[in-house]
Amino acid sequence: MSCGNPHELDCGEALAHLYEFIDGEIGAEDKQRIAAHLDECGPCLDEFDVERLVKALVHRSCGEHAPNALRAKVVAQMASMRIRFTPKQD
Ligand SMILES: [Zn+2]
Ligand SMILES: [Zn+2]
Repeated sequence: MSCGNPHELDCGEALAHLYEFIDGEIGAEDKQRIAAHLDECGPCLDEFDVERLVKALVHRSCGEHAPNALRAKVVAQMASMRIRFTPKQD
């Protein structure tokens, strides 16, 4: 999975850590690397499936959170990332 552009952090790796990124379970250094990647790589966010992310997070938390609340949290996070990291549309 790649947009074809060279990145310091691989697209697949960035997406693999997006779970932790959104869940807040990530070190400051990794968080910055992923934020930097998303900033220069809009396709990563577009490729990301929110429903799949919610399912993965629910699975990870072993039903600790209500799926609806978690889903709202993920959607809000995705929305805020899209505002900060607007994909180039031309
Ligand atoms: Zn990417
Ligand atoms: Zn890219």
